[in-house]
Amino acid sequence: MPALILDGKALAKKSEAELSLRVEGLKKISGGAVPILSTILVGDDPASATYVKMKANACQRIGMESLKVEMPGSTTTQQLHDTIIELNNNPNVHGILLQHPVPEQINERLCFDAIELGKDVDGVTCLGFGRMAMNEEAYGCATPRGIMRLLAAYGISLEGMNAVVVGRSPILGKPMAMMMLNENATVTICHSRTKGLSDIIKRADIVVGAVGRREFIRADWIKEGAVVVDAGFHPGGVGDIELAPLVDRVRAYTPVPGGVGPMTINTLIYQTVEAGEKKQKQKQK
Ligand code: NAP
Repeated sequence: MPALILDGKALAKKSEAELSLRVEGLKKISGGAVPILSTILVGDDPASATYVKMKANACQRIGMESLKVEMPGSTTTQQLHDTIIELNNNPNVHGILLQHPVPEQINERLCFDAIELGKDVDGVTCLGFGRMAMNEEAYGCATPRGIMRLLAAYGISLEGMNAVVVGRSPILGKPMAMMMLNENATVTICHSRTKGLSDIIKRADIVVGAVGRREFIRADWIKEGAVVVDAGFHPGGVGDIELAPLVDRVRAYTPVPGGVGPMTINTLIYQTVEAGEKKQKQKQK
């Protein structure tokens, strides 16, 4: 039986239609104000500039606004930190996105953690991570939360599943594992020092590829009927998992492109709309 395609592009499109209505609703009750996402781009890395533009375009499509902050590659930690504090204090800004990675002279963790919890719509702060891990209210890290929303939309329950996450980065692998654990999966996290990776993956009911290496996870490591989630994207439209031989023998998979990527951007704007709604509710109290 052909596998279920976890179509992130289609789900993001559907979600955008719903978010447009929510933004319209907010506009009516707030006297014309819409949620604002501030994007911070430091330096001139072309890939980062493209990602920021895609995020700003998504804001525009749903009637939200984006406030672009662009800083030179020579920016110091102090300058970036000060900018984030200004945005925290700006009552018109509902969400803050600091585009990763920043130039190496900057202490990225310190700057991420300067983002106020209520504006951390990309889910990058340690506080937000800790709260999410403890199942307390917080915005989830955008890529893993986007994956969780995609799985839920297709009715894939993680309850009791053996989940294997390959990668343990703070923005993807680690929060992914916590989110799956919170949904009652039994989670194994693999990384560059993991021994016997292929054998671990062979036992997985669901595999998440978050390695950053082209087709690193081989098709013959994946058991029949597994769910395959590929966060990677490499030139030529391939991900971190060798997907082509799997399409007829797995239960479901995320296509590359059109799976995880669109859900990341959608989750960022989804969480910014939530932040805007919360702010409006507080004003009405
Ligand atoms: P990252 O920070 O470079 O982390 C890569 C992870 O892979 C690390 O934890 C590393 O282990 C692990 N790894 C490296 N070599 C390995 C090996 N031989 N065996 C097992 N694990 C190994 O990357 P990231 O930011 O998490 O991104 C991962 C992938 O997701 C990339 O392809 C990226 O482009 C993609 N991504 C996509 C989106 C999206 O919206 N679609 C968003 C973010 C990232 P160590 O910790 O031991 O070094």
